[in-house]
Amino acid sequence: MPNQLEKTIPAVPVRESVVFPHTETLLTFGRSRSIEAVKAAFKGTRERHLAVFCQRDPRIETPNKEDLYDIGTLVVLQNVLETDGTINVVARGLSRIKLEEIVTPEPYLLTRVAQIPERAENTEEMRALYNHVLNLFRKAYNLGKGTDVMVLMRLSEGVSPAELADQVAFALELKTEEKQALLEIVNVRERLEKVAEALSRELKILELERTIANKTQAKFEKGMKEAILRERKKTIEKELGELDEEEDETARDFRTKIREAKMPSEVRKKADKELSRFAQMPPQNPERSYLENYLEWLTAMPWSKSTPNNTKISKAAKILDEDHFGLEKVKERIVEYLAVMKLKSKRVKGQESKKEEIGGPTILCFIGPPGVGKTSIGKSIARSLGRKFVRVSLGGIRDEAEIRGHRRTYVGALPGRIIQGIRSTGTNNPVFMLDEIDKIGIDFRGDPSSALLEALDPEQNREFSDHYLEVPFDLSNVMFICTGNILDTIPPALRDRMEVIRFAGYTEEEKFHIAQKFLFPKQIKVHGLLPSEVKITSRALREITNRYTREAGVRELERMLAMACRKIARKEAENKKFNTEIGPLQVRKYLGPPKYSSMLAEKEDAVGMSTGLAWTEVGGVVLFIEVALMPGKGQLTLTGQLGDVMKESCQAAMSYIRSHWKKLGLTENFAKSLDIHIHVPEGATPKDGPSAGIAIATALVSALTGVPTRREVGMTGEITLRGRVIEIGGAKEKVIAAHRAGLKMLILPKDNRKDLEDVPASVKKDIKFVFVKEIDDVLEVALRAKKPALRKKKINGEKKATIHAFAAS
Ligand code: ADP
Repeated sequence: MPNQLEKTIPAVPVRESVVFPHTETLLTFGRSRSIEAVKAAFKGTRERHLAVFCQRDPRIETPNKEDLYDIGTLVVLQNVLETDGTINVVARGLSRIKLEEIVTPEPYLLTRVAQIPERAENTEEMRALYNHVLNLFRKAYNLGKGTDVMVLMRLSEGVSPAELADQVAFALELKTEEKQALLEIVNVRERLEKVAEALSRELKILELERTIANKTQAKFEKGMKEAILRERKKTIEKELGELDEEEDETARDFRTKIREAKMPSEVRKKADKELSRFAQMPPQNPERSYLENYLEWLTAMPWSKSTPNNTKISKAAKILDEDHFGLEKVKERIVEYLAVMKLKSKRVKGQESKKEEIGGPTILCFIGPPGVGKTSIGKSIARSLGRKFVRVSLGGIRDEAEIRGHRRTYVGALPGRIIQGIRSTGTNNPVFMLDEIDKIGIDFRGDPSSALLEALDPEQNREFSDHYLEVPFDLSNVMFICTGNILDTIPPALRDRMEVIRFAGYTEEEKFHIAQKFLFPKQIKVHGLLPSEVKITSRALREITNRYTREAGVRELERMLAMACRKIARKEAENKKFNTEIGPLQVRKYLGPPKYSSMLAEKEDAVGMSTGLAWTEVGGVVLFIEVALMPGKGQLTLTGQLGDVMKESCQAAMSYIRSHWKKLGLTENFAKSLDIHIHVPEGATPKDGPSAGIAIATALVSALTGVPTRREVGMTGEITLRGRVIEIGGAKEKVIAAHRAGLKMLILPKDNRKDLEDVPASVKKDIKFVFVKEIDDVLEVALRAKKPALRKKKINGEKKATIHAFAAS
């Protein structure tokens, strides 16, 4: 016999809501079983009772008994509204029920449920608890908790503790599981306690939110108030003409800095004007920080700070000698230059008007391959003059603004590199080195070289204007030194103003001494070793200079020595034993096998090859010219990244040979059935210039006649169509490079004889020089056979396809 508290009624599962007794809820159902259950409950019985159970997992579409929480709510349906596919009901919770069983699952869930009676005590404690919860609820409402005011009114009028607990639980912002947990508490007191707890937590959050909101509001109001007051104050001050007195700390700082900078009057005016604009700007104005930056630059420039200029020429000469080995001519010219500079400045002392007349110092320009000591000479000059030194690279600059700065209207604008460099030294008369002047470019952003000219030209640079600074800065006391690898690419207007000093590159002998006296001791020090601890033998040093490096300067050499020192420093640090003397054996151990083993002279003579000399950015170099012949139609192919001038040389040489076929022992139309390929190896390096002319002609003649060339002979000279050999540039560098490569004989144009004066004697003694006027003289010396015509050979392209084939025959 069923318990009277038990009944069989339709039930609905709900997904993410918990229905509490005593509360009214709007529920919407879409699942067909639910719709059928509601219909059955609404129409089938007088009571219109329905059981509501929450699902444990909201994702389940047709839940079974295990998918539902056991405890649910018995509701009475008050209104039902059916719309398209869904059904909406207003349900009022009656009591807690327990799901006993599902009688039938279809067409709707028919369930047997048992009502759970409520257990409430009526004690003092219970009443106190009741009041407490009600108070909390009111507070929450006052702090903005979203609750129906009707509910609050009803609760205030007095309801049962059970109802209070359920109403509040229903209104709490909790997760579904937490609400379900509250529903499952049958004991009213216990339920009220749990509700009070959750409500307090919520209240705290509400209070916190309120304080934050209040603070923000207060801040906003305070900011407004201050801004208004500040504006008012400013107006009053303006009226009274006493704005300066109350300016802020930054502005005061700037005022002091301006005073201390001792600016020229024009600059001072500008600075004062900008400062008063700055002082009046409210702190929140974004322009203020730009202006601050500007004033920072303006006041930091060394307007009147300089290092004293009392050079003793003899001392300067001594310092240059102290720091550098060799470079006699360079040093001599520098000392002369310093002397002239000194004399000039003496003349103009006290007579500023004369300064224009006499002119400032001319600009020095050091040209030479990397690592020949250009920078380090520059530093020595600064040291000998007691001036500051700054170095700025111009490589790859294409934009005028890099030199002269961006206008202040640009975001993130800054002065150009010249002004930046000057500021970094803190004096207005430093030695200013501009590196890679041969690598500046020109494009649509303006021509940096014209800006540079304005900076360098002593006639104009007393008033150098930087776009950012806006006021002129006097650069006439700066000593500018430009450096570059080659002269050709320097814009002519700039080149005209400069006094060029060439650094030719070192001979092996010089390198050896530089390494011994300067580089090695320096590396020892840099690596934290003691000179007494590590020595290097002369043989080892020569081994490194000759067989581990092949360069015009000493950079690679310095790197090699650094590498050796590093290895030793490591041993020392690890307390390992090591030989304190670096000999040839240690060199191999530390640096690996030699990089340059075979000397040129050791190679064999060959047909269709010749050895030329060229002058590139890295100094003089040895070039090998190769010529290959193959059957064809008289085409000339040139490869190896040859520049236009060099290509023309090839054509000139070819034309000479074709027009002198008889003399050279060739057949008249030899070129018709042949394709000729001229290649200059190391194709990655671009090569240009006319000076390979005679070398190309020699290789061509050798290939066409089959007479081998002498490998120990190097040659350089331009060739004309008539076979004359004319003068070339960079003879000294080329001779040194030939020496470095081990060539024993050099063919040079007659007109270059004078250049040998500059070549060190140690080089001259190892090389035999032949001076020539005609290509015939060249061939005489360079080809193995006495006269090309001696080995008349008919070119038979079909059979002998390449020079190698010729050589073999
Ligand atoms: P560059 O500016 O021409 O590329 P650096 O001035 O940087 O060359 O020289 C490279 C290194 O070689 C520096 O450490 C420099 O001190 C050293 N050096 C170059 N030439 C000499 C020399 N004649 N005497 C002493 N050291 C030299």
